[in-house]
Amino acid sequence: LFITLEGGEGSGKTTMLQLLSSMLLEQGLPSMTTREPGGIVIAEKIREVILAPEHTAMDGRTEALLYAAARRQHLTEKVEPALEEGIIVLCDRFIDSSLAYQGHARGLGIEEVLAINSFAMNGRFPDLTFYMDIEPEEGLARIASGEGREVNRLDMESLEFHHKVREGYRIAAQMYPQRIVTIDASRTLEEVSEEMKRYLFAALKE
Ligand code: C5P
Ligand code: MG
Repeated sequence: LFITLEGGEGSGKTTMLQLLSSMLLEQGLPSMTTREPGGIVIAEKIREVILAPEHTAMDGRTEALLYAAARRQHLTEKVEPALEEGIIVLCDRFIDSSLAYQGHARGLGIEEVLAINSFAMNGRFPDLTFYMDIEPEEGLARIASGEGREVNRLDMESLEFHHKVREGYRIAAQMYPQRIVTIDASRTLEEVSEEMKRYLFAALKE
C-alpha cells in the first residue's frame, strides 16, 4: 500500500505521517516513512539544488524537471522495492505537490506537469492520498510559531502563491476523486488523526 500526504505549508503532513506510522507499528504492520523531494541520497541532493535560497535564477520548467527526476529515483530506489516486500509506504509529498505548486501555482499547467511526471512515475500512483486542507494564513502562522525548520527558496513566496497552491490541490482532488481524500486540517490533532486513521484502516481492509 502506497500512501501519500499532501498539503500546503504548515498543514501538518510531517506530524501526521509520524502518527500514522506509530499507529501501524502498534498494529504490527510493517511500514516505512519517507519524503519528497528526497528520501535517498541522490534525491536529497536534488532537493538541495531545488531549494537553495541562492538559486533565485532557477527556471520553472527546470524546477519541475528536477522534482520529477528526484521522484523517479526515489520511486525505483526506495518506494517500489519496499512495496514489493509488502511494506506500507507513507510518503510526505508526491505527484500532487508538483501539480499544485509547479502546475498551478507557478503556472506551468497541470496537464504539462502531469505529462513529465507520467514519464517519471511510469504508472506508479499512490493507492491513497490525504490532502491536508488548510487556509494558507493559518498554515503559515503555524510554521512561524514552530522551530527548527530549514530555510528555503519558497519562504520568499507571497500569500497569493500559497492560495494558488491550495487551488491547485483542489483541482487535483477533483481530478482524482477515488485516490485523494480531502482532510480539514484546521481541526485539532486528535480530530484530524482520528479521521485519517479511519481512512487508513478502510484502505488496509480493501
Ligand atoms: O514539505 P517540505 O516543507 O519539506 O517541502 C519543502 C519545500 O518545497 C516547501 O517549501 C514546498 O513548498 C516546496 N515544494 C515545492 N514543490 C513541490 C514540492 C515541494 O515548491 N513539488
Ligand atoms: Mg513537513
